[in-house]
Amino acid sequence: MKPFSAVVCGGGVAGLEALLRLRRLAGDQIDLTLVSPSAELAYRPLAVLRPFGLGGVVRYPVAPIVADTSTTWIRDTLSWVDPAARSIHTESGRRLDYDALLLAVGGKRVSSASTDVVVFTDTSADYYQRVADSVANGATHVVLFAVPRGPTWPLPLYELALLTRRHAAERGYDPELIVCEPSSRPLDVFGTAVSDAIENLLREANVALHTRCTADQIRSRPDHVVTLPTISGPNIRGLPGDAVDRYVAVDAYCRVKGADGRIFGAGDATQLKVKHGSLSAQQADCAAAGIAHLAGVTGRPSPLRLVLYASLRTGAAPLYISAVLVGAKGWQGQVYDKPPWRSDHKIVADELSAYLAPPASDAPATTTCV
Ligand SMILES: Cc1cc2nc3c(=O)[nH]c(=O)nc-3n(C[C@H](O)[C@H](O)[C@H](O)COP(=O)(O)OP(=O)(O)OC[C@H]3O[C@@H](n4cnc5c(N)ncnc54)[C@H](O)[C@@H]3O)c2cc1C
Repeated sequence: MKPFSAVVCGGGVAGLEALLRLRRLAGDQIDLTLVSPSAELAYRPLAVLRPFGLGGVVRYPVAPIVADTSTTWIRDTLSWVDPAARSIHTESGRRLDYDALLLAVGGKRVSSASTDVVVFTDTSADYYQRVADSVANGATHVVLFAVPRGPTWPLPLYELALLTRRHAAERGYDPELIVCEPSSRPLDVFGTAVSDAIENLLREANVALHTRCTADQIRSRPDHVVTLPTISGPNIRGLPGDAVDRYVAVDAYCRVKGADGRIFGAGDATQLKVKHGSLSAQQADCAAAGIAHLAGVTGRPSPLRLVLYASLRTGAAPLYISAVLVGAKGWQGQVYDKPPWRSDHKIVADELSAYLAPPASDAPATTTCV
């Protein structure tokens, strides 16, 4: 009999975590195929250290994970899904059949900021370095950090503001630093304890906070404005639903809504408003459990209970945040001065963590930087 075939599209945090979990759950009872063009996993969270010469994005090769999980790796890109035929089609015209499919292709970065605004991402950290350099030589007097509206991962902007303050103070300068936050409180999605902690950090670092605010409402004329992209959906052709730039809409078992129960989604591609690696990894583990169940090798999986694990580089000791998603009540968060989870990695992923280098501190980097 033909073995059960699971196809994973996307070799990022979610896709690689799922491959590792699937192999652990199913042993050799499932054929695994990865469809992904990237040879490397970009570990983005440390991008904020790059402008200050303290570290940067680390790139891990995908090949060892592919080898350890005995996965067939097709260096190609998903083009569209044909759920009726249980097959996918790639950009190069290849057709692959599946018994279960995981869509973990990440989201699309979008920004409508004007060209004079620095849109900070892991691939544009060097642009912010120019801002950091001009703060460090006293040429910059006002920097505005504008949190965008819409799905994103906002922590890097708070980290940049706090790290910039330390960078300037170490060189004897005191520029005006302003965070402009569209909500009523910073990170209010995670609850009062988290907002309180962020407000304290900003106050202690003398970073002004303007809430319910958009960048054009600020009176001071900044020398530089910095923002983040928002993340929109990958809009995969063939899936149910027809909205433009749509996310992969998944249920509590990470199954794609409206499909036949054999298509799963995980990571930034899904409809979660908070885009985060630890959540991507948990969705991937949940999807892997569902796929192993479909293959008949494990029991019925439990619905996913998402827990956010995050850490914030502050310029001094890091701040750790955990938050549980409690149904319609939203997230309930706590803050800690030591990580209440096993490793100090910025992306907490049960399987993938073993492949990531020991956590970097804010000390000068010894890792490979972009
Ligand atoms: C500056 C910055 C800082 C961050 N800090 C943190 C942090 O501190 N902690 C944290 O947990 N998260 C952080 N994040 C968020 C985290 O990086 C993402 O949430 C996470 O990487 C999402 O994983 P993913 O697998 O869904 O997508 P990705 O990691 O984006 O991977 C998507 C993969 O799919 C592949 N792909 C794309 N299109 C296709 C296609 N059509 N077919 C096949 N393959 C495809 C890509 O090549 C890539 O390999 C940060 C992000 C940024 C930008």
